[in-house]
Amino acid sequence: MGAMTISSTNYPKKPIYITLDERLSREDKNIIINNLERLLIWYERLAGVKIQRYYFDGPWCRDPNQPYCRPIYYIEMCRDSNDKINANCILDLIRTEPWQQHRPHIDVFVIDDIIYTRGTNFLFGLSFPAIFPDGKIFRDATGVVLSVGILKLFYGRDWPTAFYGIAAHELGHLFGLPDPKSPYYISYNHPRTKESPLYANHCSYKYCVMRQVNAGGSLDIDLLDLTRDILKYNPNLYCDYDFRLLRRNLQILFG
Ligand SMILES: [Zn+2]
Repeated sequence: MGAMTISSTNYPKKPIYITLDERLSREDKNIIINNLERLLIWYERLAGVKIQRYYFDGPWCRDPNQPYCRPIYYIEMCRDSNDKINANCILDLIRTEPWQQHRPHIDVFVIDDIIYTRGTNFLFGLSFPAIFPDGKIFRDATGVVLSVGILKLFYGRDWPTAFYGIAAHELGHLFGLPDPKSPYYISYNHPRTKESPLYANHCSYKYCVMRQVNAGGSLDIDLLDLTRDILKYNPNLYCDYDFRLLRRNLQILFG
């Protein structure tokens, strides 16, 4: 009595639909798929769950020129006058796509253009969490948007390593990280947040992928350096607190 029990059995388990920009080369698509699979297989092992996922990298309707029928539809609908893709707009389209109703799913959308949101020049990625740190599931459509274009611009041929880091970061947010109870947690009234509001709701542990990364050179961590350091020094990718919360939340969502 009184204690809240979290049961996953009341929730329909959602698969992840992974959509790749159809303009990406076969080679780039394979790099992305390999990195996401490396991460998702590792999530499955650490939580002891099966994560259903499907990849889409071209038109999926009989008439591909209808709305919501191919990746480029979403991208061009969200292209702003600055020629960048508004990542919030992509998340909005994901929420309104017709088959969310009868086939609820979580989205991961990978774009070859530069993405941004109001108040920034660019983003590496953006996410809307599927689960909150307290274990409550967000029932509406949620997802992650990732930009390969910005990674290529920053890191050239080294972009795949940075992609692995930012995918772990954004999927971490998707799965309810960071842990607000962690001693490393940067809250909305933390001193670092006064330097830049972008620091809020991130982790401060040196080798945790939930650290806030480079935003236009105004922050002090570089995504590629951070990813390389983490791969070298922390096989768990996340700090202990975020790692434990990740495992629990994956069990709630997919167990
Ligand atoms: Zn952390």
